[in-house]
Amino acid sequence: PPAPALESLQHADVAALLPHPSPESDKYRRGVVGIAAGSARYPGAAVLAVAGALRGGAGAVRYVGAAADAVLARFPETLVSNTGPKKAGRVQAWVAGPGAGDDPTPVAEALASDVPVLLDADGLRLADRDTVRTREAPTLMTPHAGEAAALLGISREEVEAARLTAVRDLARAYDATVLLKGSTTLIAGPDPDTPVRANPTGTPWLATAGSGDVLSGLAGSLLAAGLAPLDAASAAAYLHGLAGRYAADGAPTGAHDVAEAIPAAWRDIT
Ligand code: AMP
Ligand code: MG
Repeated sequence: PPAPALESLQHADVAALLPHPSPESDKYRRGVVGIAAGSARYPGAAVLAVAGALRGGAGAVRYVGAAADAVLARFPETLVSNTGPKKAGRVQAWVAGPGAGDDPTPVAEALASDVPVLLDADGLRLADRDTVRTREAPTLMTPHAGEAAALLGISREEVEAARLTAVRDLARAYDATVLLKGSTTLIAGPDPDTPVRANPTGTPWLATAGSGDVLSGLAGSLLAAGLAPLDAASAAAYLHGLAGRYAADGAPTGAHDVAEAIPAAWRDIT
């Protein structure tokens, strides 16, 4: 029989994906995630992406961009490089785009690297499609419906009416893994024969400013820790949804609370 087109993520499957440090681990072997995000106008997006990344299993978080002061004030453990991604030193995965503004150079430099790149927010808009299609290392894209619509050249309503088609079309068009955010987040790989994964853990309390920035850092950290893009996206969506539930617990919450609840979500599924 043909494989089902859609699979719901299961607790045990996600638990098996999460990285665990071994006695031989050091911070570099655990992975360094690079965050190219934030701007003078949107420094908070950088802080929230770093907040997610610090809870995602990488051994270190490296930040490049215009919000270094805000990032360091909140997270002194961040490695800050006063360069673009190209000269920043070794990282095992890049997150490019949250709150980044209109400069295409950091996104292009991240995509020119030989490591996995997660594109979100401005990074989705600024990335060159042929560059994404032809690069050797994998790319993970994390649009919400509006961002997916802009990339596909259709309306947001059309995306919402056919989310499964939209996530598959985007994955095919960019030869990338695509995580389409929403009340049920869908994740598609570049291979059309791989079933699309659906995340059951979301909560509408996650519909709050900055929540997607936390997700991008978390997923980027899992990429840096060595998970394949489909697995990094799946585990991040699952943990982020649970963290949203724990942070909210039936009452309104903010994105930084979601980031702080990631460890509780992680503990609960392992
Ligand atoms: P962003 O739009 O980039 O800020 O990301 C919003 C985050 O909240 C994504 O992880 C979405 O999947 C999640 N989210 C938004 N609306 C809902 C909803 N109604 N139910 C569950 N999760 C949601
Ligand atoms: Mg967003």
